[in-house]
Amino acid sequence: MLRLLVLAALLIAVTARAESATPAIKAVRSWHLAASDLPWTDTTPATHGLRLTLIIFQDTAWDPETTLAAAKNMAPLLAQCGVRIVAAELRQLAAPRRFRYYRTAVSRELARLVPVPRPAIYFVADTLNRPAFDAEAIGRANSGTRPELADTIWVAAGTRDLHVALAHELFHVLTDSGAHNDEPGNLMQSETAPENTRLTDSQCAGMRATAERNGLLTLLPN
Ligand SMILES: [Zn+2]
Repeated sequence: MLRLLVLAALLIAVTARAESATPAIKAVRSWHLAASDLPWTDTTPATHGLRLTLIIFQDTAWDPETTLAAAKNMAPLLAQCGVRIVAAELRQLAAPRRFRYYRTAVSRELARLVPVPRPAIYFVADTLNRPAFDAEAIGRANSGTRPELADTIWVAAGTRDLHVALAHELFHVLTDSGAHNDEPGNLMQSETAPENTRLTDSQCAGMRATAERNGLLTLLPN
């Protein structure tokens, strides 16, 4: 009897370890937006293409409609720089609760376990990092201690002016820079607001050059 109990305890211990080593993260569904779903309305032709990955989790406040709409609404903010979203893929994951929050150590593990094309935007339930930002971007320059997170954005539920916030964070990633710009109406003001949407010609040129060099934008045929 004692032996059986020991065996049972051992089995439980082995099961628990197996579970923590391979957390059950599953892809549930995916949605694709093609260039035709993202009409080009700018008067100048697009010179650069962007392919976006969006990640949502089951059992959070984020739903596919909101996130896909935000990607579409962000398009005109990028269009002023000649950048067109040529494809966007939204993937919904089922993951243990801890992965649905942004917390550097856990999010690194998630990014390692489920690699996705970059740039990638993760829509999370909340951030557990301090200071707590609504949205945070990790480029190349600031990912030295967390290489798995390079070229990713983490957005907490409840972020206001979502498409503006996303475009702002995406600019950080594409320029690989945390720089802000305090010109009135500029997208890169440190506080995002619905009226802060403009990018200057030199901001656009810098973004295209850096992102192309880092493989995050591709040159489109004219
Ligand atoms: Zn910023």
